[in-house]
Amino acid sequence: MSDTDTIAIPLAGEANGTESFEVTFNNNDTNRKCGSCTLCCKLLPVQDIGKKANTRCRHQSAAKGCKVYHQPEAGFPFSCAVWSCQWLTESSTARLQRPDRSGYVIDNAPDLIRTTDSVTGATIDEILVLQVWVDPARPNAWRDPALGQWIAAKGLPAIIRFGSAKGFVVFPPALSPTGKWFIHTDGEMNTKSKTGSHLLDRIAGYE
Ligand code: SF4
Ligand code: SF4
Repeated sequence: MSDTDTIAIPLAGEANGTESFEVTFNNNDTNRKCGSCTLCCKLLPVQDIGKKANTRCRHQSAAKGCKVYHQPEAGFPFSCAVWSCQWLTESSTARLQRPDRSGYVIDNAPDLIRTTDSVTGATIDEILVLQVWVDPARPNAWRDPALGQWIAAKGLPAIIRFGSAKGFVVFPPALSPTGKWFIHTDGEMNTKSKTGSHLLDRIAGYE
């Protein structure tokens, strides 16, 4: 959603800008640009403005990309201001294609998944996972071997998302009991979180 820059986001109740929160984006590691890519603006939900996953954002424009980019007074959401995909900012993604070409967007934030007792519902374990949002129009995009190598190198499972409540978790060989890629498709995706992320809910003290 953004290239390199520093922007000031007014704090709640400070729309006139008397106090603000400054955010600096640093993609100097990669020097990559979004260019004509806008895939994250379609695939990801943006809670601040009630935008659902896999829907076009009302601020998107074919000519300008984001019509309110860098304009918090015009409704540029805070969550867009502090977010970039990992292709844009992470040097480790050098072998991956730009998201509009690959068909998936790697979230810069991980999430938490829980395993629970099927009888009592009690939490057994919590696991940190990478998040990959896949374009439903290209459902096999996540099978990109370069993405698999990247996930394996990170040493974490990844949640392959086709929306806020649809997806599955893949475990790289080093984390799988069989020593091969393991795809976990059972279980429900619990989307009851205040921020859209169980990890952010935890950091914010909501749970
Ligand atoms: S998916 Fe990444 S490269 Fe594409 S517009 Fe969003 S931040 Fe930019
Ligand atoms: S507000 Fe702008 S950056 Fe955020 S999703 Fe909408 S078009 Fe994209």
